Amino acid sequence: MRVLLIEDDKQIGDGLVAALKAAGMAVDWVRDGVMALEALRDPAYAIGLLDLGLPGADGMTVLKAARQQGLETPILIITARDAIESRVTGLDLGADDYLVKPFEVPELLARMRALLRRRTGRATPRLSTGEAMLDTATHQFSCGGHTETLSAREYALMQILMERPGHIFSRAQIEDRIYGWGEEVESNAVEVLIHSIRRKFGKGVILNIRGAGWMVPK
Ligand code: CA
Repeated sequence: MRVLLIEDDKQIGDGLVAALKAAGMAVDWVRDGVMALEALRDPAYAIGLLDLGLPGADGMTVLKAARQQGLETPILIITARDAIESRVTGLDLGADDYLVKPFEVPELLARMRALLRRRTGRATPRLSTGEAMLDTATHQFSCGGHTETLSAREYALMQILMERPGHIFSRAQIEDRIYGWGEEVESNAVEVLIHSIRRKFGKGVILNIRGAGWMVPK
């Protein structure tokens, strides 16, 4: 899962990038409001974390403009502004959640999971189809009677596929969603991940649609 972090504070940004990467996410970090709005146009982001006090354009301005332009990326505001009016304004402008700094990383991650669940119409952290089940809280995957905790990249791949069983994702779509800016991507990286998952859970867990991409069966 690829996350856009919009934060101008170096110390907070460094900490969040490290924490999100440790949780298996690819993170791109922008530090001002103008670049944030530009970056939000990229549909590869599963979620945007938006600070409000930003150079260039205030976070509220970025949010308002993004929603006016029809951009639907889920946005979680992270800010030290704790006034009720600010929370109400942020949510009413189209933010999906609002978290006041300072916060603990486990709460941020749980809110991100909850927000993504709501976006996909689920009430629990589990994604399932047929025999396959992915727990988005623990990163455990089960299929064919076998359960294992996936590596960060394996999890990132399976989360994409399991969100939409029966939908074919191309290599480019998968790469866009699991690698951030500046990450070196080997040409066969996606195949290597798929091979590793099939070795553990059986060949039928991910189907290859020749010339189109991959999917999990519905
Ligand atoms: Ca700030």
